[in-house]
Amino acid sequence: MRRILVVGAGQSGLQLALGLPAEGYDVTLVSPSGPAEIRAGRITSTQCLFGPALRRERRHGPAFRDDRAPEVHGVGLSVADPTGADLPDGPVLARTAVPGAGEVSSLPTLSLNGPCDALMVEAVPGGPLDRPLPATARAEEVLGHLPRVVRRYAPWEYERFAPARPADPMAALTGGHTPVVRVPVARLDGGAPILGMADTVVATDPITAQGADTASRPPTSTAA
Ligand SMILES: Cc1cc2nc3c(=O)[nH]c(=O)nc-3n(C[C@H](O)[C@H](O)[C@H](O)COP(=O)(O)OP(=O)(O)OC[C@H]3O[C@@H](n4cnc5c(N)ncnc54)[C@H](O)[C@@H]3O)c2cc1C
Repeated sequence: MRRILVVGAGQSGLQLALGLPAEGYDVTLVSPSGPAEIRAGRITSTQCLFGPALRRERRHGPAFRDDRAPEVHGVGLSVADPTGADLPDGPVLARTAVPGAGEVSSLPTLSLNGPCDALMVEAVPGGPLDRPLPATARAEEVLGHLPRVVRRYAPWEYERFAPARPADPMAALTGGHTPVVRVPVARLDGGAPILGMADTVVATDPITAQGADTASRPPTSTAA
């Protein structure tokens, strides 16, 4: 049996490790933290998965989201202007571009305490939305900071989120993200090949909500 080591139990590594045994591989999966630590840890994304990615998840592992995660029925895009923005109704990923400042997005998602709404602010570096918080900031602190930033540039989202409470203490993520493309193949000193995948090779801007969707996509696949 061929042996393979998968490093990282994230969106791509976990599904690969779950799928390879059926292809005749003896798989070892390495993760710096176990399920309990991951569950108690900080959120890592806004979790918006499209249909093809969900179908691949169901094929390779338990359909753990199906009966609990809220559905997203569409994506609405608008550009902020002084008279307000037309936001779509219903369970959609609503994204507002604020020229020169960044983007403010909201979407239904799933927390440890059940369905909730997520708010994501992406700032143009050095622009008016760029008010960095320490990476250690807890959800309460991040939420307390957001109204000042959002009120001026996306007041329609401020109205919705001003009365909000954090879904759990670790339900916030702050920091910088640099899109990058790397060489996908390397070799160990002994010559064994290492194949990079997903964000290790191509990390996109999270605003595209496509990173986790493409993380499990086979490179040669044209269909889901
Ligand atoms: C704020 C934000 C919001 C996002 N929202 C969305 C969204 O709504 N929809 C979407 O499709 N994508 C979204 N993304 C992108 C998505 O999260 C990533 O593209 C996707 O998780 C990449 O999958 P991956 O397997 O490459 O990496 P990850 O899912 O990050 O997994 C990598 C794993 O490797 C582990 N690891 C790291 N170093 C080591 C090591 N040395 N040894 C062992 N393990 C290691 C890490 O702990 C981690 O578990 C978002 C990203 C950000 C930052």
